[in-house]
Amino acid sequence: MHSDRLRRMRSSPALRRMTSENTINPADLVQPVFVDETIAAERPIGCLPGISAHPLSGIADHVKELEESGVQAIMLFGIPVHKDAVGSSAYDTDGVVQKAVRSIKGACDVVVMADVCLCEYTDHGHCGILSEGRVVDEATLPLLQRIAVTLAYAGADLVAPSGMMDGAVSSIRSSLDLAGHVGVPIMSYAAKYNSAFYGPFREAACSSPKMGDRSSYQMDVSNYREALRSVARDVKDGADIIMVKPAISSLDIIRACRDSHELPVAAYQVSGEYAMIMCAADQGIIDGARAMAESLMAIKRAGADIIISYYARQYISGR
Ligand SMILES: [Zn+2]
Repeated sequence: MHSDRLRRMRSSPALRRMTSENTINPADLVQPVFVDETIAAERPIGCLPGISAHPLSGIADHVKELEESGVQAIMLFGIPVHKDAVGSSAYDTDGVVQKAVRSIKGACDVVVMADVCLCEYTDHGHCGILSEGRVVDEATLPLLQRIAVTLAYAGADLVAPSGMMDGAVSSIRSSLDLAGHVGVPIMSYAAKYNSAFYGPFREAACSSPKMGDRSSYQMDVSNYREALRSVARDVKDGADIIMVKPAISSLDIIRACRDSHELPVAAYQVSGEYAMIMCAADQGIIDGARAMAESLMAIKRAGADIIISYYARQYISGR
């Protein structure tokens, strides 16, 4: 009787600490950062409490502050002055993110990950080039290659194609290698769902599609096997890290990636996940710090090695 009396190991804080199965290392967390070419002063993002977009002139200082708080990696998103149908600011060697990368790398030692997509740079807000209202892979891939190469040239430590275009990883890998950036890894948004939880990001990055939605390139939330096919394809195509997005509603996919692949697995706790917890905490409905820690630990327990989170700085610095 009572052979599996599990409470024995829960009886003291020291025993609980000793038998804890997962920990979150500050080096596992990545802080998303917005750099906005259209502003001269910090712009708080209303729907992401505690998060602001920063002007180019202040971006290095902002990232330096993050580094001093203990943040060791950032994911950079840009908002350009100029948008057009082909997102030309995205692959301008003097584009907003290319300039930001140069300025950050001159001032800090953090890992700078750079998003590779067109949605912040196209006037229609889609992640690729449109033909008759549809995003076309063949027209989009050469531009993704140019974005990745200009970012690598600017000094980005890693590039992250986020648009779910077929062929993105292999074409970016070949263009990086051809340009001499064989050492720049690719973190692929390998399983990215067409999620309602991205809403606050689109306000932050001014990247909502002007017409239609992203269901022709992002995955339907009902699909599990398709996610595994997408991940396996990106692994074969040369991804160095595979990412799942959103996180809390995709814990099954994170676990499947962990069990099926040897590559590092990243998960993106997206803007809506962060905003839900922060807003509920703000109204006194839940304990925000505990809910956030629990959420991050659940993502870790599901098998994520790396977590991209708007809460990274606060988690690491304890405030
Ligand atoms: Zn995009």
